[in-house]
Amino acid sequence: MNLIDNICSEFTKRFGNQFILIEAPGRVNLIGEHTDYNDGFVLPAAIDKAIWLALNLNNENRVRLFSVDMNEEYEIELSTSLNKSGKGWPDYILGVVDQLQKHGMETTGFDCVFGGNVPIGAGLSSSAALESGVLYGLAERNGWEISLMKMAQIAQKAENEFVGVQCGIMDQFASLNGKAAHALKLDCRTLDYEAVPLQDPDFKIVLCDTGVRRELAGSEYNIRRQQCEKGVSIIQETHPKVKKLRDVTLKVLKDHKDKMEPVVFDRCLFVIEENNRVLDACEDLEQNDIDAFGEKMFLSHDGLKNKYEVSCKELDVLVDIARDVDGVIGSRMMGGGFGGCTINLVRTGSVESFKDIIQKSYKAETGLDTEVYVTAISDGTRLVDKPKEESFKVLEI
Ligand code: ADP
Ligand code: MG
Repeated sequence: MNLIDNICSEFTKRFGNQFILIEAPGRVNLIGEHTDYNDGFVLPAAIDKAIWLALNLNNENRVRLFSVDMNEEYEIELSTSLNKSGKGWPDYILGVVDQLQKHGMETTGFDCVFGGNVPIGAGLSSSAALESGVLYGLAERNGWEISLMKMAQIAQKAENEFVGVQCGIMDQFASLNGKAAHALKLDCRTLDYEAVPLQDPDFKIVLCDTGVRRELAGSEYNIRRQQCEKGVSIIQETHPKVKKLRDVTLKVLKDHKDKMEPVVFDRCLFVIEENNRVLDACEDLEQNDIDAFGEKMFLSHDGLKNKYEVSCKELDVLVDIARDVDGVIGSRMMGGGFGGCTINLVRTGSVESFKDIIQKSYKAETGLDTEVYVTAISDGTRLVDKPKEESFKVLEI
């Protein structure tokens, strides 16, 4: 039985055959790394790897959940003071309910069965997909009119405050607002956004997982944020209107070079250049110049490696292999750094050979295996038709 049929069948077996089905995608970020907390721009897109949720309200005042992928259930009485589950995955859902309550939206009890094919913990935002999907389904079933941007804010807060992960808004925003054949240029200061067409149909987004996850990421992330703030505070002495690096031009930064420690200067230089790259890369897309776009992805990686120093050997190996493979348009590390995935734009006809080369060469150079995910840009979170009941019929034994 395929994944969606399985989810529907599990729901029917546990809670009956009345439910809605929601598809909530994972996301990539094409370019714009470490720009979000500097009030800059990012360029995410939803992908065709998703979490599907079967959901319905119940009259039990209970939240009853089943995770197909974990093969685990969780049930709790609905109250105004929800506590963490101690289990991990239910918290992403309870966190959404908690935030809804704080926004004055009280749901009745509900049942939810879900599962998906977004790799978990690999930086493709399976967590945001889960939050977005539940929130979208609850809004639909309760008849709440909440804008997608408001939903993104609620889902982000659920992760920040209930789960305890300090993510920005990009992940939930992209999962909810994604648009097929478009990237989303998001202004992290104003939350204005624009769908930028990715007109060339002849490529795939290929993610290569280093397999490396490092604890270092959290502490180094905080240090980078402080270094950016340090740079801003030095510039503010002469430019009091500057609030974040987003407001600083390259010229102004260079004028202050002598007042900064070299490492602070390098961090600020990367952020300003990266933010400019996002804007220029969007221009490339407007001009349908995917090769120029890809070139900026390589430059983004170089900056993350040399100036921002958040790459690692495994990420560099993957990008360096990709550079020399025919049909690769661009490649760079994606996410906070020190591990996780690289994102590669690869001509459709070259995807198979790319996969083959990258897996063999990565193994040869690092001794590690890389998991490769081939994806395309998709629409954001939405209701989807249930499969015909015959396909997921629950067989009585
Ligand atoms: P990611 O980069 O994938 O968002 P996170 O660590 O932020 O990684 O979120 C992963 C967590 O989200 C998992 O540990 C789990 O608790 C929850 N989760 C994501 N996808 C699923 C799923 N398909 N089934 C159950 N839980 C999931
Ligand atoms: Mg996440």
